[in-house]
Amino acid sequence: MSNTELQISALGFPRMGAQRELKFALEGFWRGDRSEDDLAATAATLRARHWQLQQAAGITHIPSNDFSLYDHVLDMLVALGATPERFGAGAVSLASYFSMARNSQEQTAMEMTKWFDTNYHYLVPEWSAGLSFKADPGKAVREFKEAAALGIRTRPVLIGPCTLLLLGKPADPAFDVWSLLPKLLSAYVELLAALKAAGAESVQIDEPCLSTDLPLGIAAHYADAFAHLAAVGLPLHLTTYFAALEENLPLAFSLPVASMHLDLVRAPEQLVTALALVGPRQALSLGLVDGRNIWVNDFERSRALIEAAVSTLGAERVVLAPSCSLLHVPVDARGESRLQPVVQSWLAFAVQKLDELRALASGADQAAAEHAINRAAIASRAGAESSRNETVRAALGALAAKDFKRATPYAVRIKQQNAALGLPLLPTTTIGSFPQTAEVRKQRAAWRSGNLSQADYDLFLEQETVRCLREQEEAGLDLLVHGEFERNDMVEYFGEQLEGFAFTQNGWVQSYGSRCVKPPVIYGDVRRRGPMTVRWSGFAQSQTTRPVKGMLTGPVTILQWSFVRDDIARSEVTHQIALALRDEVRDLEAAGIRAIQLDEPALREGLPLRSSGWESYLDWAVQAFRLATSAVRDETQIHTHMCYCEFESILPSIAALDADVISMESARSKGELLHAFGNASYPNGIGPGVWDIHSPRVPPEAEMEQQLRIAAEVLTPDQLWVNPDCGLKTRGWPEVRTALRNMTEAARSVRATLPALAAQ
Ligand code: GLN
Ligand code: ZN
Repeated sequence: MSNTELQISALGFPRMGAQRELKFALEGFWRGDRSEDDLAATAATLRARHWQLQQAAGITHIPSNDFSLYDHVLDMLVALGATPERFGAGAVSLASYFSMARNSQEQTAMEMTKWFDTNYHYLVPEWSAGLSFKADPGKAVREFKEAAALGIRTRPVLIGPCTLLLLGKPADPAFDVWSLLPKLLSAYVELLAALKAAGAESVQIDEPCLSTDLPLGIAAHYADAFAHLAAVGLPLHLTTYFAALEENLPLAFSLPVASMHLDLVRAPEQLVTALALVGPRQALSLGLVDGRNIWVNDFERSRALIEAAVSTLGAERVVLAPSCSLLHVPVDARGESRLQPVVQSWLAFAVQKLDELRALASGADQAAAEHAINRAAIASRAGAESSRNETVRAALGALAAKDFKRATPYAVRIKQQNAALGLPLLPTTTIGSFPQTAEVRKQRAAWRSGNLSQADYDLFLEQETVRCLREQEEAGLDLLVHGEFERNDMVEYFGEQLEGFAFTQNGWVQSYGSRCVKPPVIYGDVRRRGPMTVRWSGFAQSQTTRPVKGMLTGPVTILQWSFVRDDIARSEVTHQIALALRDEVRDLEAAGIRAIQLDEPALREGLPLRSSGWESYLDWAVQAFRLATSAVRDETQIHTHMCYCEFESILPSIAALDADVISMESARSKGELLHAFGNASYPNGIGPGVWDIHSPRVPPEAEMEQQLRIAAEVLTPDQLWVNPDCGLKTRGWPEVRTALRNMTEAARSVRATLPALAAQ
């Protein structure tokens, strides 16, 4: 490779700060402990620090306007005068900005949903014909000038018009959102003109929707939109990420943009086609360093891609970049002091990723030392004894088809389960957790910090569990749970007990607003050290004559909510987790637990962005669940739980899990989901949530009874279970007590009329 330095573009940087400074400033402001000026000062300090850090790292194109006090989609709506009509027209104050983002007494906030396949949540634009659109370049211009005042030239980042329209939802389903495009484009043009006037020399336009299955007829909108934007005369740098552009590649390269960015971590194969399509004056930005994961970059692989691009385009037209904005990774791995040193040497957070880009851009000659360290880290991870477990690999290799299949069909085993469990028709149960009160959290914190002995903590948990069982008995529930008081988090609790997992101290990633998550790191083969939940489920079962349901997190959810090795197939890691859970399921059964639930709330969100990838994902995901659950006797009942209601498209896969009972959210989707299950003649047990636990409201008995009657029309009475729509850990005891009583009463009333229903 030539020794010419290549340009580097950072695309976007985490906003929260290495110590989550923004989170604490925001929450202090919301509580009223901090002034608006105080919040603004923290935000400005963070922006300055992050720009300076990128400057010191030698980044050629440093982004601005990637910062946000809550969400960059909401910021775009503000910048375009396109905030929802129900929040009023005109300039948006900080108070009204936060009222759109957060629920208050007066108003429900905008809806929030996941940003593509990440765990970042954005506020969903609400498109209606009445929107007037008026550019408000304030924030973007201010931040550009703020950086300029520090002597740093930045490239403002904007979400592109087509992606923005596609991310929103029409207020009325019949409304054609594309009818808004002309007005929207005028506002974009004004915004770009203002940035140009402020001295910006180029802008980054993010169009991640180009990596998705686009509806027919969108190409013309893209062409129209970019013609308008280009007319402003500010060079446009088009950014795509998270998947291959596939059939959208020719469209993307036909747009009048100065450069195109491709995610070559998720989709390296698109480079070849891209090199043939890139225009004579266009540059190509190579997304080489993973913006979605935390492992050191494989320089050998990156260098091969760089060489292919440089030899076709010349060094001047090649830009190096992370695969996407660094928003989705933690800030700095250097602060981690509790990890095994060898595992630590495999990690690269945002700061390290910038250094990696620098080393790649300098070529191997100038950065020989960095390249050697990188090679050593990659080799150590691939071969590390500390991460490979031959027993697990052999066990996976030895699996046969029968290990993925219950011994008998549902119709046969359900009879044995009914006999073993002795439950009435329309059995009542809950999803697992009960209120995590301040007291529970306090005791756990005391135990973690060494101020409460293991014995005293266990005693406390036993008392809570017994109290929870008595409450359930008094509420008249049929299938009880132990309450999950010993768990902080449904993935962390298992990760802490499994080999192959590590936990960072400061590996926080923004989930939404001020909320951050710290995903566990799956650094090696996963193996169960010993029973993980048998102590609590067994204890609970010993304290009551009613059956107690064992409670596990499913393999896909454990995978999905962790950072996972990028050199081992996700399917393989999931099957390793499934194998560990399979042993746990067997141990629970041996301990006398007759029903066992594996929660899979993340099954749906793991779906690849492109529908072409769905089948293979669903295939291994379903197999993983079956592997974890198939080793039990006929009379042991397997439950699963999923939270969200957009299941219609994957119903056959849900049926293929072959769980004996599935509980899910449906209180808010008003039974639509049920119809889907009914139409698909889903054969096994279903508990459509009759109580929406996401709100403090206690539904009256009549309302739940009504929901059950609707469900009983669609499903057969012997299929129907009665339960809330998710775990109760965020609710308070008084609401829980009343709501559960109402729920069991509702079940009783409907049960009384069942012979009539069954006869219909
Ligand atoms: N068993 C878990 C609980 O009750 C399930 C949580 C979830 O679905 N996200 O909290
Ligand atoms: Zn749930």
